[in-house]
Amino acid sequence: MTKEREADRSERGLDFIRLIVAEDQKSGKHPAPTTRFPPEPNGFLHIGHAKSICLNFGIAREYGGICHLRFDDTNPSKEEMEYVDSIKGDVQWLGFDWQEHLYFASDYFDRLYEFAEKLITINKAYVCDLSSEQIRQYRGTLTEPGTNSPCRDRAIEENLDLFRRMKDGEFPDGSRVLRAKIDMASPVILMRDPVLYRILRADHHRTGSRWCIYPMYDFTHCLSDMLENISHSLCTLEFQDNRSLYDWVLNSLETACHPRQIEFARLNMSYTVMSKRKLLQLVDEGYVEGWDDPRMLTISGLRRRGYTPGAIRNFCEQIGIGKKQSWIDISVLENSVREDLNETAPRVMGVLDPLKIIIDNYPEGQVEELEARNHPQKPELGTRTVPFSRELYIERADFMEDPPRKFFRLGPGREVRLRYGYLVTCVSIEKDEKTGEIKALHCTYDPESRGGNAPDGRKVKGTIHWVSAPHALCCRVNLYDRLFKVEHPEADKDIDFKQHINPDSRLRKENCMVEPSLAEAEPGTRVQFERQGYFNVDVSESQPGRPVFNRIVTLRDSWTRMKKK
Ligand code: ATP
Ligand code: MG
Repeated sequence: MTKEREADRSERGLDFIRLIVAEDQKSGKHPAPTTRFPPEPNGFLHIGHAKSICLNFGIAREYGGICHLRFDDTNPSKEEMEYVDSIKGDVQWLGFDWQEHLYFASDYFDRLYEFAEKLITINKAYVCDLSSEQIRQYRGTLTEPGTNSPCRDRAIEENLDLFRRMKDGEFPDGSRVLRAKIDMASPVILMRDPVLYRILRADHHRTGSRWCIYPMYDFTHCLSDMLENISHSLCTLEFQDNRSLYDWVLNSLETACHPRQIEFARLNMSYTVMSKRKLLQLVDEGYVEGWDDPRMLTISGLRRRGYTPGAIRNFCEQIGIGKKQSWIDISVLENSVREDLNETAPRVMGVLDPLKIIIDNYPEGQVEELEARNHPQKPELGTRTVPFSRELYIERADFMEDPPRKFFRLGPGREVRLRYGYLVTCVSIEKDEKTGEIKALHCTYDPESRGGNAPDGRKVKGTIHWVSAPHALCCRVNLYDRLFKVEHPEADKDIDFKQHINPDSRLRKENCMVEPSLAEAEPGTRVQFERQGYFNVDVSESQPGRPVFNRIVTLRDSWTRMKKK
């Protein structure tokens, strides 16, 4: 965190969770907090998870505690090792460290089983033979209480025997469950004898075929927190009701450690979908190239796109932690990477839509090495040289055949400044005879204007970027934009969210011309193409000496402007 940001936070005050942590520290209840980030390894992490990671690891760092990384892997059918590895990589890339505190809920299966037996022994859990459909029917509704299961009053011994036989594989999948014995009339529906264990013959990515019964989330989560001595168990608002069950399990088992569950509002963001289930659909159905497609708001997608970890952390800090559901506009995220790269990204010149210009009065064969600043406001970032010659490329959009008065770029008879170079005037246009397409421009230059100013002091308003044609590196540029063209792709239940995909979210441009200094740029390198935006060298598509660039973000936010119009 920078000094200003730190000061900014103390001015704004702490969020409500940090207030609790600080208070617990002061009172000595928890001199150092222990938090955890508990992902289910059933997909890649997305920007919503980043909020939770920054919160949990951030609190541990700020208050001298530790944050565990715990895989909540109790659902064998959907979980895979590939996801475990990607999640670890993403957390590290974001700049956080769990040290030796890497855990798997599946490591607790034996302990959880013992706790389940203990609940049975104290008459707080029973084996139920109702089908899942019947359990649903017996549960009642918000306005009507549920009905007791006919199995609810089984003797403790019979329950123990049945539960052991469930574990030993004597019963088919789905034929029996273990349920908590709480209250079928509870106003919190989740408390109406929730299921704690189910029979499921599925291979688990870590325990293989050792178990054929698996604990449910609500039973696993609180006990895992307890076993790890978590002080503050932070989760999103949907889990508010689950807190009753969280506390019931720990109270019933009279555990020495009883972590405090605190809920905060999840991150919702416009122009995107966030749930892993939907992201998986985009991947599986080929709408994107994979979990790390640069248009996906997964951590790996953002990384490949060129986002910096700092930009994501600043974003998470900026949106804050609260209790109210809210929507964050995606432009806030885009702005944070823009701000970050504005500070750090070296400037270079790249022409995305090249138009050749020939400087008729420039000596043929002559090449000048012009000095260019790497960052206009930061001399410490140094300079480089760019070759200037008789034939150059400029951006097609920087020329108009019939320009309005306020077009301060190139037009017939008009003069413009070539960045770091000379003043040039367009004298004629070369067109394709058949199509009428402009093929090249002929210009003259003022030899006295090297560096960009005329000795006679005449004013030239426009400055455009360019690349020397014989020296240019020809490459592909991927112009990425938002994946969805509407603000809330999931708003209408009758319309599949995939129908809102922005067909222009990826524009592949071949034959872009960039300055030769970029030939050896390492994959991952971030630059600003002057007047265009921030780009990075793609890690998958680039080849040695042949970089492919991804647009990270444009220089200005054109979506918000468009919306205002
Ligand atoms: P999804 O709903 O996207 O499938 P999930 O909640 O099932 O995500 P988990 O792997 O269970 O994903 O999440 C790990 C942690 O990340 C949880 O503590 C969860 O609360 C948190 N988390 C997930 N999505 C968000 C979000 N949008 N904003 C803040 N925290 C989130
Ligand atoms: Mg979940």
